Amino acid sequence: MLNNRQETMRQAAAFFTGEIDRLITKPVRLMEVCGTHTVAIFRAGIRQLLPPQVELVSGPGCPVCVTPNDYLDTAVAYSRLPDVIITTFGDMLRVPGSASSLAAEKAAGSDIRIVYSPLESLDIAAAHPEKKIIFLAVGFETTAPLAAATVLEAERRGLANFYVLSAHKLVPPALSALLADREVRVDGFLLPGNVSAMIGEQPYCFLAEKYHLPGVIAGFDPLDILQSVYMLARQIHASTAIVENQYRRIVRHEGNPAARQVLTQVYETVDAAWRGMGVIPASGLGVNDRYRRFNALAALPLQVEKASEQAACRCGEVLRGIIKPADCLLFGKACVPEHPVGSCMVSVEGTCAAWYKYGAGK
Ligand code: SF4
Repeated sequence: MLNNRQETMRQAAAFFTGEIDRLITKPVRLMEVCGTHTVAIFRAGIRQLLPPQVELVSGPGCPVCVTPNDYLDTAVAYSRLPDVIITTFGDMLRVPGSASSLAAEKAAGSDIRIVYSPLESLDIAAAHPEKKIIFLAVGFETTAPLAAATVLEAERRGLANFYVLSAHKLVPPALSALLADREVRVDGFLLPGNVSAMIGEQPYCFLAEKYHLPGVIAGFDPLDILQSVYMLARQIHASTAIVENQYRRIVRHEGNPAARQVLTQVYETVDAAWRGMGVIPASGLGVNDRYRRFNALAALPLQVEKASEQAACRCGEVLRGIIKPADCLLFGKACVPEHPVGSCMVSVEGTCAAWYKYGAGK
């Protein structure tokens, strides 16, 4: 027996799925580019609710997944230095690099500490002035402002032993690179609500203007996602292409200018390597010259052997939505969350991990 609220939600979901079925008359592929959306879609069984002509595919929306081996190899090399403490979010630990992982290095004795905020790194730096503290700054526009604020706070506190190894990435240039890829076929995008809360709506306008593709900034509740797919369906049915904002309760048109101001104070746009997508121009953030002394690569240069990727891992194709995880021969066999071969099986937001945990969906 459903209560009033549940009944209202059931009716709303039935309305959205019915309208999507009515509006979409031929097969379409819609891509979500946010790991949180990927997990929310699986958890709520949204693929199973949608009509068969609507296919949801996951894109490069998991920051850990898109971080390439050369970054991991560099982090591993730093962790082996006796006077270095690495601080990192936990999901980076088990990502396999070319020949090792941070988890393996930690087990072998390297000082690698999991933090829940980059600011915790500063207390570690203050407590260990004889050590160099390197924070692994991985994430999209959502997390980069806090890393930038941490650099400013380190300067304010006069900490001379705190550094950032930046692998921050920017979502819009990755979408642009995807659409330039002839193998990728997408009819519309579910855009990341959390990233959009920072950057606003404008950076996505090229989707409509250059590629005539619709995009909807989507929230994370099941009804948010169903409504966003419905909004995409309306656009596809009408052959229109604009950026719409379903997540207005959080995302403002202009985003968060204060957070962006902190970001641009510390970081500059740089070309960045993405796993499976190569180097994408102006798609990353590096510490700028003004804060160069906090940039691990500039302040603590070291030699790292050239990275190699796991030959059989097809994360690159998974991240571009070209194949599904089950198309990888290792999926669920040699590669499972307990023993991941590729990064897409490590993070809870990784596409392969989500497929494994929640079943193959459709
Ligand atoms: Fe890579 Fe494992 Fe995914 Fe295959 S199943 S693409 S090996 S992460």
